[in-house]
Parts: sequence; C-alpha cells; structure tokens
Amino acid sequence: MKYSQYPYERIDLDKFKTIIEFMIGNFKSAESADTQIKIIQEYQKIQKEYHSYGSIAHLNFARNTKDKEAIKENKFYDEIGPEIAAIDNQFTKAIDASKFKEDLLSEFGKHYFDLISMELKSFDPKLVDLMKQENELSNEYRSLLAGAEIKYKGKTLNLAGLSPYMQDTNRETRKEAFTLLDRFFNENEEKLDNIFDKLVKIRHKKAQVLNFDNFIPLGYLNMNRSDYGAAEVSDYRKQIVKHVVPLVEKINLKRKEILGYDEMFVYDTLYFKEGNPKPKGGVDFQVSQAKTMYSELSKETDDFFNMMINEELMDLDNRAGKSGGGFCTSFPSLERPYIFANFNGTDHDVTVLTHEAGHAFQCYESRKQPVNRYLWPTYEACEIHSMSMEFLTWDWMHLFFKEDTEKFLFKHIAGSLAFLPYGALVDHFQHWVYENPNASPKERKNQWLELEKIYQPGKNYDNLDFLKNGGFWQKQAHIYEMPFYYIDYTLAQVCAFQFWIRMQEDKESAWKDYLELCKAGGSMSFLNLVKLANIKSPFDSKVFEEVANKINDWLEKNSL
Ligand SMILES: [Zn+2]
Repeated sequence: MKYSQYPYERIDLDKFKTIIEFMIGNFKSAESADTQIKIIQEYQKIQKEYHSYGSIAHLNFARNTKDKEAIKENKFYDEIGPEIAAIDNQFTKAIDASKFKEDLLSEFGKHYFDLISMELKSFDPKLVDLMKQENELSNEYRSLLAGAEIKYKGKTLNLAGLSPYMQDTNRETRKEAFTLLDRFFNENEEKLDNIFDKLVKIRHKKAQVLNFDNFIPLGYLNMNRSDYGAAEVSDYRKQIVKHVVPLVEKINLKRKEILGYDEMFVYDTLYFKEGNPKPKGGVDFQVSQAKTMYSELSKETDDFFNMMINEELMDLDNRAGKSGGGFCTSFPSLERPYIFANFNGTDHDVTVLTHEAGHAFQCYESRKQPVNRYLWPTYEACEIHSMSMEFLTWDWMHLFFKEDTEKFLFKHIAGSLAFLPYGALVDHFQHWVYENPNASPKERKNQWLELEKIYQPGKNYDNLDFLKNGGFWQKQAHIYEMPFYYIDYTLAQVCAFQFWIRMQEDKESAWKDYLELCKAGGSMSFLNLVKLANIKSPFDSKVFEEVANKINDWLEKNSL
C-alpha cells in the first residue's frame, strides 16, 4: 500500500475513553496473568492505530503547513494528545499494580517496567492543561519559522531555502544570507522571546505540580533516561571540553589556512575554497544512487529501501509552506516508517538521507517487537542507528559526490566532530535555563554567550546583531520543542564514531552488530543497547581519548 492510500480518521475521543476504561476494568478483575497479557496486547493494537492516525495528521501538516485541512487535523491530534496520555496513564497504573506483576515482567521484560515507572513519575492528570498550552506554543514557534518569507536575489525563500547561500563560495553572498537570517530573527525577537519564556514557565510549573525543585529531573524522566542523570552528563560535557574542543580548534585553524582568511567569521562555513562538495544531482538522482548503495550494503537494506521507494514513504524536496528540517516518523499499525526532509542541493541532503534512513531502517527492523514501548528506543539510542548509518555508507559516497568524495568525507568527519561541542553547549544552556526559570530573555542570551566561550571559543559573529547578542540558540528547534533532547545526538555520535572506526577494521562484524542493534529496537536501556552493539559507553572516560586520537590520525593523513 502506498502512503496516499493509508486509511485515516479522527478517533472518537469519548468512544476511545469508554473502550479503554472498560478494558482497564477487565484488566483489574482478571483472574490470570494470561488474561492480563491478552488485554495488554489488545490495548497495544488500539494504541498503534491511534499513533498511526496521529503520525499521518502531523506529517500531512509538516508537508504543507498552509493546507487548511491539514492544519485542522494536526490541531485535533495535538489537542487530544494530553487526554490520551491521561487515559494511558490510568492503564499504566493498573499494569504497575497488577497482582501478576512477576508474570508480566517475565513476559515483557524488566525494561518495560522501568519505562512504566518513569512514566508514572512524570505524569499527573493535573498536567493536561499545561501540556496543551505547551503544544500550542511549540506549534506557534514552528509556524513562525516555517512562515519565514525572505526576499533574496529575486526569490522568496524560507529558512531552508536560504541555506545554500550560507554555503556559497562567494564570501559576500554568504554574509548577505547570514545577514538576512539575522534580520529575520531580529524582527521576530519579541515573539521568540515570549514563546520561550512562556514555555520555561509552563515546564517549571509542571515540575512543581510533581514536587520537583525544577524541570531538570522531569525533563530527564520525559526522555526516559534510566541509566544516567544530570551529574553523569555534566562530567561527560567536561570530557568534550577537554578532548574535543582543542581538536575542533585545530580543524578550524586548518580551514582558515585552506580558505586563506585572516579572520574566520560565523558565515565562513566552507571547508574548501572552491566551496563545499555538493551532490551531483537533485532528489531523483540521490534516491537512485541510494537505491544502488542500499542494494550493495546488505540484503536487509535492499529490501528496506525498495519498500521506501515503492510505497512512497519519502518526501524529500523543499517546497514553500513545507515545515523545515528532517525527521523520520512511523505508522506502527501498518509497520512502516516515513522519511521527511528538505533537500537544498548541499551535501547536507546526503547526510540527511542516510541519517533518516538509519532511523527508518531501525524502525522497520524492530517492527515486530512485542511491546509498543520497544518499537523505538530512547532518543540517544535512536541516534546511534541514524548517525552510524551515515558512516556505514561511506564506501558508497562516490555515487553521490564523484570527484568530490574525498572532500565530502573530510567535511563529514570534521563536521561531526565539531558538532560535539555545540551539542554540549545546547545541553549546558538548557540546564542553566531550567535551573533559573525566572531569568529574563536578556539574561538567557548573556548566559548563552558565556557558555559559547567554553564550547566554541573564537566564534565570531562579525556585525550580525541578533546572533552577536546571544540569540543563536533561538533557531535550534529542540530547545523550544523537545527540552533536553540534544545531548542525545552527541552521546550517539560518540557511539557512531566507534562504528566508523570498526568499519575501517572489520566491516562484516561492524554491520552484524549494527543490524542486531536495530532489531533490538527499544527493548533495552541506552547503555545496555550500547553493550549489545559491542561498543563502549560514551560515559567511559577513555572513550574520548581513543576516538579523538583516531580522528586526529585520519585527518592528518587525509588533510586535503
Ligand atoms: Zn536523528
């Protein structure tokens, strides 16, 4: 079945509630573990259907944020989300209180109950109104950015459309593009500040309802982090400052030398004088090259990617009104993933495609996991699949970049490394924000600038007013929409780097472990999945030294 043929409907909330409440009643009075297991399975089927409809509504809206129908359907599923969460919470409580808990545990695994216990600690029906307000504000932020209409060189561009100019070989063009971006954010500064201020206050209030001092522990619970906390993450960020920041500075010096500039500014995004490598064709070309690539990588990826093409499970081109960014979503009742992106002709297209294909591949490989909560792992584990897929496909990058392949690989590895300090900065900033919920927008921006000095020393905004005054983070959607979802990318990156190293040493065993990891889905916690994949924990203090040394060696050998 193709995406356009998927069944879609609005669920009837009252009917849904009645059915689930009836099931909860049956669950509580069940006389055997078997009966309870069957009820859970039945409930999971209903949940899968609900999630599929919700995904379709969100996806159609992202595909065209101006479509009135899509806006309405998206709003419907956004609005009922918190109420569904409230009913789900009742069911979860009943499962947690089951008199057959031991049997359920052996059926579904310990991780199932770990996830349940985190959910119970992070939810209270009193939060529903606050959650609704939070959703609305996130949508407001998304619409504000998606609605950007920037006039440049006779065209009207959205933010993604501006991006190729930000990588142009002409320094003046890059500066102009950054200036337009800066101006867009400057003009919307008050709105952006207000939305975020409200979000921080709502999140703090949610934490207070649940008797937490601030939002941080709740944020961690919302991310389902069961095997590390804020203290471990703080130590981990210090490792990045110690081992990675100096190496990134070295790379930046190298870039400065390659570009022949006296001073590097934020708009000097190039790695090469003649410009960053570009894929040698548009969407169709790239999909066709990816088809070849995945047919050669493995039998599993071949089947998977052909399905994505044949069932129209990708929307990759950049259009006016389309929401920005790239993501992978899924329709669990139909056992299918979907890739959404905004190709713009830069090398980023290829990394987005392999990245999102990594998510989609995992989702497809773990579609038969017996528990809905195991269909996707927690985010830091999810990103191992996507970021490792970027590296596992290195041998085929010549299909996209031809004579510029070496340049792409250099930029990819250097850029991935340079991402770590930025990721840690976003994370550190968020900890500060939620520790200081009453800080003013101006204080937040000052704090960002202070932290930038630690993680990105030497960053120079020239005379771009908005960015210079500490506003860079306001274009980072995660900070608005998904608090504390960011360090995840860096944790996963450190795991992906290990796959990158292993691919150079023994491709077969690296692929085997990757596939195992994908199949396991979310059936284990992050650190247990890392163990399963035979890689080291990013919290292991030796990992950074090892990874940074390997990358340093590679860069020295391949410095172009
Ligand atoms: Zn991702």
